[in-house]
Parts: sequence; structure tokens; C-alpha cells
Amino acid sequence: MAIDLPLQAPSSAGLIWRVTRNESATPDAERAAILADPGFGQHFTDHMVDLCWSLKGGWHRPQVEPYGPIPLDPAAAVLHYSQEIFEGLKAYRHADGSIWTFRPDRNAARLQRSARRLALPELPSDIFIESLRQLIAVDADWVPSAPETSLYLRPFMFAKEAFLGVRAAQKVGYYLIASPAGAYFPGGVQPVNIWLSRQYARAGKGGTGAAKTGGNYASSLLPQAEAYEKGCQQVLFLDGRYIEELGGMNLVLVTRDGRLITPESDSILEGITLASILQLAKDRGLTVEQRKVSIDEWREGAASGEIVGAFACGTAAVVVPIGKLLADDFEIVHEGPASSELAMSLRDELTDIQYGRVADRHGWMLRLDA
Ligand SMILES: *Cc1c(COP(=O)(O)O)cnc(C)c1O
Repeated sequence: MAIDLPLQAPSSAGLIWRVTRNESATPDAERAAILADPGFGQHFTDHMVDLCWSLKGGWHRPQVEPYGPIPLDPAAAVLHYSQEIFEGLKAYRHADGSIWTFRPDRNAARLQRSARRLALPELPSDIFIESLRQLIAVDADWVPSAPETSLYLRPFMFAKEAFLGVRAAQKVGYYLIASPAGAYFPGGVQPVNIWLSRQYARAGKGGTGAAKTGGNYASSLLPQAEAYEKGCQQVLFLDGRYIEELGGMNLVLVTRDGRLITPESDSILEGITLASILQLAKDRGLTVEQRKVSIDEWREGAASGEIVGAFACGTAAVVVPIGKLLADDFEIVHEGPASSELAMSLRDELTDIQYGRVADRHGWMLRLDA
């Protein structure tokens, strides 16, 4: 059962948010049990954000409501033509109890870029950020406080219009849900093995590789299953001979003299973790190269000792050293402390900023609960 509360004050965007409290919210003891061992993406908070867009009315009816199923016409365009995009960011609890998020302006801008590519309406940044604040205002208790835990925030947008003609939908929904996340590596960060997919590509030139859209993930599931069969946790995709990225994380190579090399391509998703790690490296005076990188360059560099390590990065896992790249006819092994030292120290520096353990010198953090 849910009841309507009085309307809230207008947001910065001039929209009036309606907040409907979940009257059957998770009991405190049950929530505490979930937060003690949240895993990833399995449990959801008591509320969600829901905004509508229509060609005639623009963005309207922003609301916070009890978490639950979304009524959808069977002809809703997303179910047929995959007109969908999403984002992923985290809310972090600092030692004083305050709740913060990391570079949400970047997620807002990326959601707009993804929207343009998928012919969806652009959500103004201030509404995006207000949606985070609105959800945290009712679900703050869901932000865990144990080390390296967070509340994962998942904004998404899709075509709701019931119409089987092929064109951009004229009715769209934006939603925000949240899911408590445990430490990604409860026993300490472990290097992962990566499978090099030769048969399948993630994205092609002019395709949707640079957009955060579900279709890119759907097409990665089969190669991902192949990776598991080979004893690997992730897949590396190529564009011809050039390295692209993993299914949901960007890739960086580390040289003997501490340079970071990361692929540049129109079909790579621009990671916010990647951009931040590269910035922290530049702050240390390290050289960062963003350019085309062939698989042969990695292979030869590893063989000669020029490339000493590699890591993957993304919001969920932050930074993960790569222990081995496995292909059907060769493998690259990075082992020993030198292979992950720089990756781990950049990871620590980034998480120290995110959890408020060191000064936020770049102004990356935004407080959500005040
Ligand atoms: C989200 C995502 C990333 C990582 O981006 P972050 O902003 O660092 O979380 C990398 N690759 C793909 C394909 C993604 O969808």
C-alpha cells in the first residue's frame, strides 16, 4: 500500500517532484541483514524514480515511488527494437555518515550522448542530478558503511511508446533504481584472466559502441559464456587488429617506465573511471598515451619486457589487474608485484577520494544528502 504525500518544492529544473512513500518498506532488521552481505545487483532499495517524456509534453511528472514493476504495453518499442540506454554510478558513505557520489556531471553528459545516438530525448543534467538526490532523500539508509561498499545507482531510459513502426519513440521513460553493493573483491583484489574474442566483435565503426546501451551487452553475452568455458572472467574485444575494451570495462597497458597506454577508438565507451585514473596518473607526472594499440603491440611488448602489466577499469570493480590474456593460439601472462603495483596504487588513490579518506583536489565529489 502506498499513500501520496504533499507535493515537494520545485527542483532546480522547475519540475515539481511527487514523492510517494513505500508503506511496506523493508523492515530495519531485514535491511541490516542485506547490507551485511549485499553482493551485487541482487537487492533493491524501497523506492525508485520515474519521469516521463513525450514529444508534445517534454519531460514531465517526475516522481519518487515505491520500487516495483513498470507497467508496459506488449508493443512498447523497447521490447522490439532495443531503444534503451543506461548509466552506472555509486553513492559512497563517508566516515561522518554523509553520502556522496563521484563525478555525476560526467554520467549526466554521457547519458545525453547515449541518448543522441539512440534517438532518445536528452535528460537535462540538473534533472539527472536531482533524481539522484531525490532517491537518496528517501533511501539514505540503504547506503552501506562497511569498507569498500556502496549503493550502486542505475539510471536508465527506454522507449515506452506502443507502436511497431520503426522510428524513434514519442513516449519515453527515465528511471533510477539503486542496489547496495558489497566489496567487489571481499578477499582483496585478485588479478583476472581475460579471453580474447576473435570470432565476435562488440561494436563496429559507426555503430553504438560509444553509447551505454543494452544491445552492446546483449551481443557480449555469447562471447562472455565462451570466456567462462576457457576459465576466464572477462572478454577482450578487438576492432580488427586493434584492442578495444572488455564487455563493460576499459583497458590500460602499463609499461616498464610507468607509462599508461589506453586504446583510442570511436567504438569504445568513454569510462569515467578510466578518465579519472588517467588524470591521477598525469598528476603524478606519468605519461599517458591514448592512441590505437594493436594486439601485436601488447604481445611483443609483454615478450620484450616493455609492457609489464595491464588492468581493466570501471565503476563497479574500480581497477582490476589482468593476470593473463588468453587467445586460441597464444597467451600473455603478467605476474609478480611489478605487474599490478601501479594499478593498485592508482586504485587506492581513487577509492580514497571516493570514500573521503583524502582531499578531493579535483572537486570530483558531490554530496547527495544535503
Ligand atoms: C560503463 C562501461 C564502462 C566503464 O565506464 P565507467 O564510467 O568507468 O563505469 C566501460 N565499458 C563499457 C562498455 C561500459 O558500458
